[in-house]
Amino acid sequence: MGQKATERIFEIEAEATVEVEAGENVAGLEELRVKWLGRKSELTGILRGIAGLEPAERGLVGGSANKVREKLEATLEARIAELSAAELETSLSTDSIDVTLPGSPVRAVGHLHPITRTRRLIEDVMIGLGYQVMEGPEVEHDFYNFTALNHPDDHPARMLQDTFYVEPGGGAPAEVGKQDVLLRTHTSPMQVRAMEAAPPPLFMIVPGKTYRRDSDATHSPMFHQVEGLAVAEGITLADLKGTLLAMLREIFGPDREIRMRPHFFPFTEPSVEFDVSCFKCGGTGQLGKGDRCNLCKGIGWIELGGAGMVDPNVFGFVRDAGYDPDSVTGFAFGFGIERIAMLRHGVGDLRLFFDNDVRLLEQFS
Ligand SMILES: [Zn+2]
Repeated sequence: MGQKATERIFEIEAEATVEVEAGENVAGLEELRVKWLGRKSELTGILRGIAGLEPAERGLVGGSANKVREKLEATLEARIAELSAAELETSLSTDSIDVTLPGSPVRAVGHLHPITRTRRLIEDVMIGLGYQVMEGPEVEHDFYNFTALNHPDDHPARMLQDTFYVEPGGGAPAEVGKQDVLLRTHTSPMQVRAMEAAPPPLFMIVPGKTYRRDSDATHSPMFHQVEGLAVAEGITLADLKGTLLAMLREIFGPDREIRMRPHFFPFTEPSVEFDVSCFKCGGTGQLGKGDRCNLCKGIGWIELGGAGMVDPNVFGFVRDAGYDPDSVTGFAFGFGIERIAMLRHGVGDLRLFFDNDVRLLEQFS
């Protein structure tokens, strides 16, 4: 019985080897694998039947069957590798490529830049609060950028190292001097332009590009600001606080609080800087078990921008347009759009927004 089984095993090896070596394609070889080595193959049957053999014969039959199985597997793999290479070679040399078909995977259509999305978010929130969105010139007169905003002649922001000045064109009137035209250093000039254009009440925001001679991880020579201005009878600092709170809760979440700290700006009096409570640690300054929050540096507050009540001196420049400092009051605020985007998206370096590296931009799709 054992003798017969061993003979049959070597017959199987011979027959299978002939068939495998004659195989002409990969699919056909897979069928041969099932036929000779599969669960229902004769060889597998022999191996299953070993238990019924005389104990003395089991080792010989089992050993032979396993050896033949391994040899057949190796022969199959070798033949499949040989045929795969040949099939690839054939398809590469004969298949033509339709270059008009879309690539695979299809490239996504582009999307809005994170700064644009942040600006639109802020605009949506403020439109919801009844504000109109205005735009103003980026090349501005000194009068709107500084003088009418109550900056004295010797204010440091007027110095060449802070402000980009623009050579007046050949057609400019003689009285336009070398430092009368500049790239606006803030969006605030539109406060004056908007008040010149329409009487109170006025509720408007101005998002846009501004320019200063600054460049590091949190400053860029070109950056975006949003200016806000509200003027009407009886506006108070409490209205400013309520407006900032409503806006920042829309942007950073309904649980945020704000605080205002005394500060100085030439065109507001009193002036404040405003902070929002940290959305990472919930304003506690700590994460988990006593670890200092890295976003607010353990303070619990994040500095956002400047604000204040419009200085009566500013109304003095637009008194003729209906802004009598004795009858109207107002507040103004301003902050950087990049700062909001950096905080919302955890971007550590402002300059990344303007490198236009798609590896960064694609993360905002
Ligand atoms: Zn924090």
